[in-house]
Amino acid sequence: MKHRPGNQFASDNYAGICPEAWQAMAEANAGFATSYGDDPWTARACNALRDFFETDCEVFFAFNGTAANSLALASLCQSYHSVICHETAHIETDECGAIEFYSNGTKLLTVSGQDGKVDLDAVEHTVKKRSDIHYPKPKVLSITQATELGTLYTPDELVAVHGLTKRLGLKLHMDGARFSNALAALKVPPKELTWRAGVDVLTLGGTKSGMAFGEAVVFFDRQLANEFDYRCKQAGQLASKMRFLASPWLGLLQDDVLLCHANHANRCAKKLSEGLASIPGIKLVHPTEANAVFVQIPQNVIDALHTRGWVFYTFIGSGHCRFMCSWATTDEDIETLVRDMRDVMGKEPGF
Ligand SMILES: *Cc1c(COP(=O)(O)O)cnc(C)c1O
Repeated sequence: MKHRPGNQFASDNYAGICPEAWQAMAEANAGFATSYGDDPWTARACNALRDFFETDCEVFFAFNGTAANSLALASLCQSYHSVICHETAHIETDECGAIEFYSNGTKLLTVSGQDGKVDLDAVEHTVKKRSDIHYPKPKVLSITQATELGTLYTPDELVAVHGLTKRLGLKLHMDGARFSNALAALKVPPKELTWRAGVDVLTLGGTKSGMAFGEAVVFFDRQLANEFDYRCKQAGQLASKMRFLASPWLGLLQDDVLLCHANHANRCAKKLSEGLASIPGIKLVHPTEANAVFVQIPQNVIDALHTRGWVFYTFIGSGHCRFMCSWATTDEDIETLVRDMRDVMGKEPGF
């Protein structure tokens, strides 16, 4: 694989298309096919996702996560409702108001919580503190799995989340942009993290798992999918050559490919996390449970790493440095970064 730029840990969406997704797209590229999703690849991809989740869910394909999240949440809400989410949730911090836009005004209400996970008491407080007509009526809890801070809701924590949403009469949405990483780390069947845990709608990430683009919106409560196809079309999310949005799923869902790539990314993050934590002066700021590593390092070290060509984010969540691994990360990338970090830390004053 030529032209793969090294020196980057910015995001798992910096990686290219994994070979299996690429191959599946190539197969779908043979000849003509019906447009707008009435093609055999789309039908097969929907069925593959039903098999994956072991249930008869409704499946739609959108171009990206912002659209998938927004349209999914819009379908759960009226304009006067509210969606409760963590203050670091992608829907709150990184979607440019798309939820509010597509839902014609549904308001996001944020809560805090350790390591990117919503605090359930805070959720309850947010729902119960007002019951009057002047407050945007809480309707949905949206959680992210794996979280924006690289942590996971364990199956037990999901049971508690479900208990609360049931008690409070909230729908449960899951932003699964990195669902595959959560699945690989928690080693349970997909159904245990979704419909068995009360998830009504899942936004399932394809892009960060190795596809070129594309997320699936999976309705476990099929009634909620009523007229969702119109929502997608109106929002510009109905691909006319849908087979290219759908077929990569066939590549990822065969032979556990999705899990293998996610396992690889998680293993890389673990290795990087251990390597960085062994350097004096470096502090991990969140546990490394999926494919992200968050560390606190001095600004002069950040600058020195940038000078050496390393690319990583410093604006996610608490504003620490995030190093993200993907299916395409190599052991050599990790070893070189750890070596450079050790070198830079040794040279900078104060360490
Ligand atoms: C990347 C990501 C998305 C999707 O982002 P798009 O750029 O809109 O595809 C959604 N949620 C989370 C948590 C993400 O990390």
